Amino acid sequence: MDGPKLIGVDEALSNILSRAVHVDSSESVSLTDSLGRVLAENYYVLNDVPPADNSAVDGYAIRKEDVRAGTPLRVSDRVPAGTPPRPFQLGTAVRIFTGSEIPEGVDAVVMQERVERSGNNIFIHADVTSGQNIRRRGQDLARGDLALAKGTRIRPQEIGLLASIGVNRVLVQKRLKVAVLTTGDELVEPGQPLVSGQIYNTNRFTLMGLLAEAGCEVVLCETLEDDRDASRQILQKAAAESNLVITSGGVSVGEEDHIRTALEESGKLLLWRLAIKPGKPLAFGEVAGTPVLGLPGNPAAVLVTFMVLAMPYIRKLQGRPELFAVGERLPALFSNDLPSIRREFVRARKQVNGDEPVVAAYPNQSSGMLSSACWASGLAVVPENTAVKSGDFVTFYSFSELLS
Ligand code: AMP
Ligand code: MG
Repeated sequence: MDGPKLIGVDEALSNILSRAVHVDSSESVSLTDSLGRVLAENYYVLNDVPPADNSAVDGYAIRKEDVRAGTPLRVSDRVPAGTPPRPFQLGTAVRIFTGSEIPEGVDAVVMQERVERSGNNIFIHADVTSGQNIRRRGQDLARGDLALAKGTRIRPQEIGLLASIGVNRVLVQKRLKVAVLTTGDELVEPGQPLVSGQIYNTNRFTLMGLLAEAGCEVVLCETLEDDRDASRQILQKAAAESNLVITSGGVSVGEEDHIRTALEESGKLLLWRLAIKPGKPLAFGEVAGTPVLGLPGNPAAVLVTFMVLAMPYIRKLQGRPELFAVGERLPALFSNDLPSIRREFVRARKQVNGDEPVVAAYPNQSSGMLSSACWASGLAVVPENTAVKSGDFVTFYSFSELLS
């Protein structure tokens, strides 16, 4: 086989991750704009959530000891949500609604479905336990609790939690600045006519999408011709303007593959050629202190190597504590008879077979075929030097885990 020996995926990951340094630089954004961002400080609870005991149902607030079978309770007050409760009159019931604050002295709420109302009186047709249907002050978050830790990526539920503690501006990490360079004389932008020998630039758009999902800002996006000098120059410019440069194509062994050599000449090549399928030609290095991740050219290989190698690296630069996707072990609905020295990431779909979740593989796993990834819901791993028979358990990573 041409070129140096292939580097194992785990070794490559630990090598590149050992060089990843958190880019710790923050900015304040409005709560509305914080979705997908990474918290730059711990958020503590300043006031209890909920701020007061409140009703979990529509019904009547009472004292358990006032309830006697067959004896009515007079409805003495009405507390809609949003209204401060008035002092409670002992021996009566208060009409109350979901989210209404509980009057002092009341110890239970009876659902309206369990109550018969007659004029201004109610009859309770159910056993009552003290505390029932009352949501206690601070039961979600108590004052002083850590609400969300620095390094947390903000999803819709985190935005909601921040709102629930009254935060309207959030200190987040600045978005990682990423430069995207796609390479190849054959590339044409979508919208232009194709002539013989040309293909549309796919990777530029896949990478923009992947980086948006990863919460990064694309600060430069250029398409290069296969030219050594031009590659060197643009690598230097990209390195100066970004925290991370990602290239596609031009890292294989052909004489038109200039990115790897340009990387060697204008910086350092630290790693090249991985025991991974798809994605073998991957290169990693740095130019002027900025990391450069040279992804392969084939579109499915770009997707896979981004998810498997770039994502953990990006998470570490973002200062996030969990770097890796969590997989699940599921029976394979496919076989892979030829063990390979490369770890294979199979474009696969989790589906239900009878009652059982299983993993099916797209029939054509060519590294050039993005349709495989559009059909798939994640990646199934065939380990190095391993054959897989249908029914064997494999590890499956969903795309949403891989990209979160
Ligand atoms: P390379 O490593 O540059 O030889 O590229 C490997 C394969 O990926 C070739 O078939 C290229 O035409 C294809 N390729 C490279 N870059 C892109 C791109 N941006 N969009 C679509 N296909 C690409
Ligand atoms: Mg090329």
